[in-house]
Amino acid sequence: MALWRPAYVGLGSNLDDPRAQVNAACAHLARLPLTCLVLASPLYGSRPLGPIAQPDFVNAVAGLLTRLESQALLAELQAIEAALGRPPQHERWGPRIIDLDLLCYARERRSGPRLTLPHPGIPERNFVLYPLADIAPDLDLPGLGRVAELAGRLPAEGLTRL
Ligand code: ADP
Ligand code: MG
Repeated sequence: MALWRPAYVGLGSNLDDPRAQVNAACAHLARLPLTCLVLASPLYGSRPLGPIAQPDFVNAVAGLLTRLESQALLAELQAIEAALGRPPQHERWGPRIIDLDLLCYARERRSGPRLTLPHPGIPERNFVLYPLADIAPDLDLPGLGRVAELAGRLPAEGLTRL
């Protein structure tokens, strides 16, 4: 029987009532097989990254315990994205109904087009690190460092606690 492992998921939305989308995604996380949703961060508002003019995002981070392997968990996250109506093809930096990123999974480190762990965008994203620091300040992200220290290096620019 597989062990229970901690995993953290980043949630983001900037379309079709983003707050409701993030809450709906949390409700889906709570119903995943072989998985317990342990806690969710407060919601944050953030300004979009990249070259495209688009609405502000709502972001949050959820902490899970799961017996799914990392790739199976990612597949479940993608199934939740699809269930909430996210089209399979989309603009890289464009608006989205829901984005679920697997931020980290136990002590796993891997690099690949389908799954990179820990998620490589974490160190420069205040909308990930601030909510993650709310629920897991002492988490040591393999190869990156302690969450509270990483968050302390980033200005809160563009970020509001909702
Ligand atoms: P983005 O989140 O960068 O805006 P997507 O959500 O469409 O874009 O993800 C693009 C690809 O990133 C997916 O095909 C997925 O397999 C891959 N990917 C690699 N590592 C991860 C991870 N840790 N979490 C989520 N997706 C990942
Ligand atoms: Mg994503």
